[in-house]
Amino acid sequence: MRTQVAIIGAGPSGLLLGQLLHKHGIDNVVLERHTGEHVLSRIRAGVIEQVAVDLIDEAGVGARMHREGLVHDGTQICVNGVRHRIDFKELTGKTVMVYGQTEVTKDLMDGRAASGQPTVYAAYDVALHDFATDHPRVTYRADGKDHEIQCDVIAGCDGFHGVSRKSVPPGAVTNFERVYPFGWLGLLSDTRPVSEELIYVRHELGFALCSMRSPTRSRYYLQCSLAEDIDAWPDDRFWEELKLRLDDEARDALVTGPSIEKSIAPLRSFVAEPMRFGRLFLAGDAAHIVPPTGAKGLNLAASDVRYLSQALIEFFKEGSPKGLDHYSARALARVWKAERFSWWMTMLLHTFPDSGFEQKMQLAELDYIFRSKAAATALAENYVGLPF
Ligand SMILES: Cc1cc2nc3c(=O)[nH]c(=O)nc-3n(C[C@H](O)[C@H](O)[C@H](O)COP(=O)(O)OP(=O)(O)OC[C@H]3O[C@@H](n4cnc5c(N)ncnc54)[C@H](O)[C@@H]3O)c2cc1C
Repeated sequence: MRTQVAIIGAGPSGLLLGQLLHKHGIDNVVLERHTGEHVLSRIRAGVIEQVAVDLIDEAGVGARMHREGLVHDGTQICVNGVRHRIDFKELTGKTVMVYGQTEVTKDLMDGRAASGQPTVYAAYDVALHDFATDHPRVTYRADGKDHEIQCDVIAGCDGFHGVSRKSVPPGAVTNFERVYPFGWLGLLSDTRPVSEELIYVRHELGFALCSMRSPTRSRYYLQCSLAEDIDAWPDDRFWEELKLRLDDEARDALVTGPSIEKSIAPLRSFVAEPMRFGRLFLAGDAAHIVPPTGAKGLNLAASDVRYLSQALIEFFKEGSPKGLDHYSARALARVWKAERFSWWMTMLLHTFPDSGFEQKMQLAELDYIFRSKAAATALAENYVGLPF
């Protein structure tokens, strides 16, 4: 098979890139190691920045998001039982969209099916070849047979554990990493959200987040130890622990119910530099990870795809390699700012072992945010998404 862009991974970055390229008449093939059902079963992000909303619209798959998504003008931060509001709209003029990553992925899959561009699900043993030359290749196994794709460019959109970054010679890439000493225990339930806006909870027992995916589907998180066993957390225990960390009003309003998904995710900051290796370009989680506290993972994937799709359109339509040459530096400039914000939100709201001094710093900083318009604006500006 021959194509212009071989895209590894059918997560949000791979599917969004494929759709934007198709809109500009650039052929692409997506290879995904899991089945489509498996990809859709993964419960992940839910807060989408305006710039990512615009990109999803540009890809032509935003209609359902605008019908069903929830526009949020602000968020709440609860500190030891007292709630404060950060008004994004008043402070920045911008809002965010609450719409599940699963739904974004489904809309992108539907768009891709309608476009007729090929997607190979259950593609095993994907291997990248010759990307230091102008004639890269990708090989894989599917339906019990070996296949090869010849292409002009490979887009590595295959997430943190994917094959693309691992295919780069070790000396060519520098990794920067911070692993946090806790995880998030998440529970999804078909219950009415406790509040119209997300509530970020800073509490001595640990961080909690009251989030949502729709007016009838809630997503709650509890800071937990990395050694925690998910089987030790029946639903009742989760709800009781959450109640302990909430303010009185939220505790009274909380509607509990059976979980439809429960999982523990470790928190990590990670960046691989650069994001280009000859004709291989990394995008999204393949190149960087943020702790979810700043709601930036999916949004960063979208911003990489914006830069990369523009550069590829310039390359294929105008014959100019300029955008590709600048891709890594442009993407990383935005990545590091989102890394900073996600790290800062994580340090601000979680409890850390042996951290009497840090706790006082957290409380002083939170008090500053609640009293200073400049400090609240800095938080809001980063949360709604920095401009490109
Ligand atoms: C448990 C969890 C919770 C999260 N919660 C949030 C949140 O609340 N807010 C937020 O903003 N972000 C969150 N994120 C991050 C967000 O989901 C990611 O940033 C986003 O999915 C990145 O999209 P991506 O397409 O780059 O990578 P992925 O979504 O990881 O997609 C990569 C795709 O590549 C495929 N793949 C991997 N290896 C191969 C291979 N060898 N061959 C072929 N295909 C391959 C994978 O199966 C996958 O489908 C969360 C992530 C996780 C894991």
